[in-house]
Amino acid sequence: MEEKEIIKISEKLLMPTYSRYPIVLRKGRGVRVWDVNDKEYLDFLAGIAVNILGHCPRKVVLAVQKQVQRLIHVSNLYYNEPQLNLAKILIKNSFADRVFFCNSGTEANEGALKLSRIYMKNKFGNDRYEFISAYNSFHGRTFGSLSVTGQKKYHHGFEPLLEGIKFVPFNDIHAIESAITDKTCAIILEPIQAEGGVNVPDKNYLRKVRDICDKEGILLILDEIQTGIGRTGKLFAYEHFGVEPDIVTLAKGLGGGIPIGAILTKEEIANAFAPKTHASTFGGNPVACASAVATLETLLEDGYLLDYCQRMSRYFIKKLNSIKEKHPKKIREIRGIGLLIGVELNFSGEEVVKKCIENGLLIGTAGDGTVLRFTPPLIIEKDDIDEAISILDRVLKEVVD
Ligand SMILES: *Cc1c(COP(=O)(O)O)cnc(C)c1O
Repeated sequence: MEEKEIIKISEKLLMPTYSRYPIVLRKGRGVRVWDVNDKEYLDFLAGIAVNILGHCPRKVVLAVQKQVQRLIHVSNLYYNEPQLNLAKILIKNSFADRVFFCNSGTEANEGALKLSRIYMKNKFGNDRYEFISAYNSFHGRTFGSLSVTGQKKYHHGFEPLLEGIKFVPFNDIHAIESAITDKTCAIILEPIQAEGGVNVPDKNYLRKVRDICDKEGILLILDEIQTGIGRTGKLFAYEHFGVEPDIVTLAKGLGGGIPIGAILTKEEIANAFAPKTHASTFGGNPVACASAVATLETLLEDGYLLDYCQRMSRYFIKKLNSIKEKHPKKIREIRGIGLLIGVELNFSGEEVVKKCIENGLLIGTAGDGTVLRFTPPLIIEKDDIDEAISILDRVLKEVVD
């Protein structure tokens, strides 16, 4: 089928939940993808922060092939080895003692909210049900996760949402203090707000939130669905801030492209869940887990890739700053950690994204649309960055603000 026809029929058959860019992708290798006309693109969005190791990384492909031939699915009424292998790696390399596997980010957050509620209920009785979340946060599209997402535009039309949610400005410790009541159950935050505009908090913000949680006996949930699994140059972003959360949620990068989500927590909290309190048919699926094991093994080998991500980040940000000097009226700010980088423009970034795609560079927007979002695979090389920078430079020259 031709590109035009694929697009036309897709628009007719798929529910209209996306406004897609008019390209049809067919193949990927490393940092690059190709469309059905064999046009090549440099992928600096990477499935929205999913393809940590790039497209079709060899070790992941082999692990999936091997597992798919052996056993594709069994239920959680039985045990399977890939699930245990993945749990071991996550626990060895994190604050956590226990893991629950699911299939997506929003599902991980749903589970984290349920876990918090049941843990606090067991401990204190019925009253501790409120969640505190931040404006501009993004936690997913299902009702619980949507309810704690601090962006009105995503709520519109779906009310009534979950009750007992309070929103505070991100990076404002006093706002959190004022929002706490004797009903507060947990605070849910992204260490760095990704979808909401790549907002990096002050160095000591999360530390202070942790202190408040300890003092008040409140749980701290960190949504690391986008920031986790090496995206920021550490396995988990909380490592940058010297805090230990009570619960962490993961998804995006975890499976190397195969759908999987996870909830990580401490023994005492995990034990609030018992058989029949929470479950998932596909959660911990052997193929997804084998893929995640291969992804994490590659990522953690000698810690090389995490350090490399930080080096590429410094190089990328330096180059972006040189572009900023060339276009001082168009670029307002460059921010981010590791390879989660936002470039805030003085106008909507939509035209820039479109033109970048035409020129063979895939990027996205974040926040109110004025922020260009760069989440390339961690394996990018300096040449890739140079190429992306030269496309961006050319596009910025063309667009009129
Ligand atoms: C993408 C994302 C989610 C939702 O994940 P899905 O897999 O799309 O459900 C939740 N939280 C954060 C921080 C995300 O970036």
